[in-house]
Amino acid sequence: MNGKVLEIENLTVSFDGFKAINGLTFSMNTGELRVVIGPNGAGKTTFLDAITGKVQPTEGRVLFKGRNLRGLSEDSISRLGIGRKFQTPRVFLNLTPRENLELSCNTNKNVFPTLFKPTAVAEKRTVSGLLETIGLMNKADVSAGLLSHGEKQWLEIGMLVAQSPDLLLVDEPVAGLTDEETVLTGDLLISLAQSHSVLVIEHDMEFVRQIAQQVTVLHQGAVLCEGTMDEVQNDDRVIEVYLGKPED
Ligand code: ADP
Ligand code: MG
Repeated sequence: MNGKVLEIENLTVSFDGFKAINGLTFSMNTGELRVVIGPNGAGKTTFLDAITGKVQPTEGRVLFKGRNLRGLSEDSISRLGIGRKFQTPRVFLNLTPRENLELSCNTNKNVFPTLFKPTAVAEKRTVSGLLETIGLMNKADVSAGLLSHGEKQWLEIGMLVAQSPDLLLVDEPVAGLTDEETVLTGDLLISLAQSHSVLVIEHDMEFVRQIAQQVTVLHQGAVLCEGTMDEVQNDDRVIEVYLGKPED
């Protein structure tokens, strides 16, 4: 074990000759909470697609815990321990949060390794523990269709955590959330980062400031710069391509 949960070497993803990802090199330590930002079209979603096996690299490779993911299906990659939260919540609206979480726990085919994995105190894998973590204890038994957009996002994050992934990929978790829900989502991701590696793609700068330790800025399919929020915010190249423009 080299301490890296994710290593991406010289990754290129082309669509009909257009390089959405262009020679991207990136790595992330086990247990890290990393935020990836970048203007629209920078390649952020494609970057996640290449990690989860939704698209195959044209060049380069993706290593998860040292293992090359080349040629593996999305399902196999998910079973290896990479969980992805999509932008739109995918919960069963006619079931309750408790029932949604029970389903996710039951479909976890990795129970055996989970049982013997040393578990951080903060990590609660029981359904009630998960309900508490995502702040939905008092709505555990109402139909999920009645939850707010933010609450549905937290439920889906809980459903991912139920499958005990080592690496959580989260694409724009606060789009469309209220300010209060945004802060609570930040708290949730910070607390999950105590027991998981978490990679968050985000647009909302205030939110990034709340959660970010290390920030990676993508531009035109490659890494433009990396550092703390203060470092990247003061980088002239970043100001030019991203922060200098009005937010959208
Ligand atoms: P971001 O998430 O940073 O906004 P994307 O990864 O969605 O950026 O897209 C990066 C670039 O790749 C964009 O120019 C987009 O139009 C292009 N792109 C993404 N997916 C495809 C695809 N399936 N076919 C062709 N072009 C694509
Ligand atoms: Mg995107």
